[in-house]
Amino acid sequence: MIHNPAMECMPREEMRKLQTERLIKTVKTCYEKVPFYKRKMDKMGIKPEDITSIDDITKLPFTTKYDLRDEYPFGLQAVPMSEVRRIHASSGTTGKPVVGTYTQNDLDNWAECVARVLAVGDIGPGDVVQVSYGYGLFTGGLGAHDGAAKLGAIQLPTSSGNSEKQIMLMQDFGTTALCCTPSYALHLAECIEKSDTVKAENLKLRVGFFGAEPWTWGIRRELEKKLHIKAIDIYGLTEMSGPGVGGECQYQDGTHVWEDMFYPEIINPETLEPVAPGEQGELVFTSLCKEAMPILRYRTRDLTHLIYEKCRCGRTAVRIGKILGRSDDMLIIRGVNVFPSQVEAILTEFPAFSPQYFITVDRKNHEDTFDLDVELRPEFFSPNPAKQMPFIKPLYDRLCSVMGIKPNVHILPPNSIQRSTGKAKHVNDKRDFSNWR
Ligand code: ADP
Ligand code: ZN
Repeated sequence: MIHNPAMECMPREEMRKLQTERLIKTVKTCYEKVPFYKRKMDKMGIKPEDITSIDDITKLPFTTKYDLRDEYPFGLQAVPMSEVRRIHASSGTTGKPVVGTYTQNDLDNWAECVARVLAVGDIGPGDVVQVSYGYGLFTGGLGAHDGAAKLGAIQLPTSSGNSEKQIMLMQDFGTTALCCTPSYALHLAECIEKSDTVKAENLKLRVGFFGAEPWTWGIRRELEKKLHIKAIDIYGLTEMSGPGVGGECQYQDGTHVWEDMFYPEIINPETLEPVAPGEQGELVFTSLCKEAMPILRYRTRDLTHLIYEKCRCGRTAVRIGKILGRSDDMLIIRGVNVFPSQVEAILTEFPAFSPQYFITVDRKNHEDTFDLDVELRPEFFSPNPAKQMPFIKPLYDRLCSVMGIKPNVHILPPNSIQRSTGKAKHVNDKRDFSNWR
């Protein structure tokens, strides 16, 4: 189901007009109400009047996570506190929290955005939407919750953790849709497999909305098979509101961005210039409707590309390709760029391995070391190293050829890698960077 055809399927020329109108308003607000933006624009010699079309967006200054931290907590706010209705803060994947504040309109627009994604799974009255994203300052829980409410669905606010109870309620309450991180969904699927009382085939689960971290096609297939669902990717970030900046449609071929609210660009992270259409680079967003904290050209650090072709689903909204990773999650191992998600993608090619992994990077004798813990599935595991060899060798060869580095692979017994209830932590980088450069 398409929740808001007028916006999601708007002819592109019309969308550009709407974006132009909204950008002009946003820039004016930023300049007049947020001293940070006035300073930045004055320094660049840009006045709000210089912005007359959406194409002028490239004249505007960027905003980074560092700016948000420097202006902590409310320096980027464009409205008085009396107009603020909620405060969230990011989960801090990369350090100190980043604050997001919302007016009532901002909260309504956010719910609308999430509703557009949930509508892809035909969510409506009678559906039980189990929200197993963490509730709290993290935007995942309340974001998904409000989206489900907007569609008239039944909200089941389980939050994350307590997995046994989660799957019991899932069965007893007839959950039809699950919202959580893909890594937690995987953990719940494993709990169901192990459970004596809960069986996947007894569940009414039909669809899952998974996001807040990158995940691969391998994990998607695994979740769809184990939970008997369609797994839909939902993307978002606190700086733009939270989950629901975009989401996949039923064709699972890129994440539609709700462009009437967020304008996406892809830039070269080194030169900061826009890349050619369709090329890979860093995703940048400008908010077009936000009142409490409008944001110009926010550098997400997410590496991906934009797909402009019209989608089979009928939506004209531009799509972002799979997120390759975050530039700040990228590991440089002996000079080679490595993304943890590459490991996940490779692991899921091997049926004997579970998709769980943990990377430890260190530096010994001036050489980077890369240790990879993986698990064999119970039916393939043997504590005897000789019996593990036939599994390790092909995995090792594939890791070397795809990633260009030689990992030390360690096979652990099933279920020994720490499972996550929120965003999974896959890496421990023990190298001391303090005396670099
Ligand atoms: P933090 O920066 O602390 O992680 P957020 O919760 O705001 O705070 O996280 C936003 C980031 O999470 C995005 O910039 C992106 O890197 C990641 N993310 C969110 N949804 C997805 C998704 N569906 N696929 C890949 N990455 C995602
Ligand atoms: Zn589509």
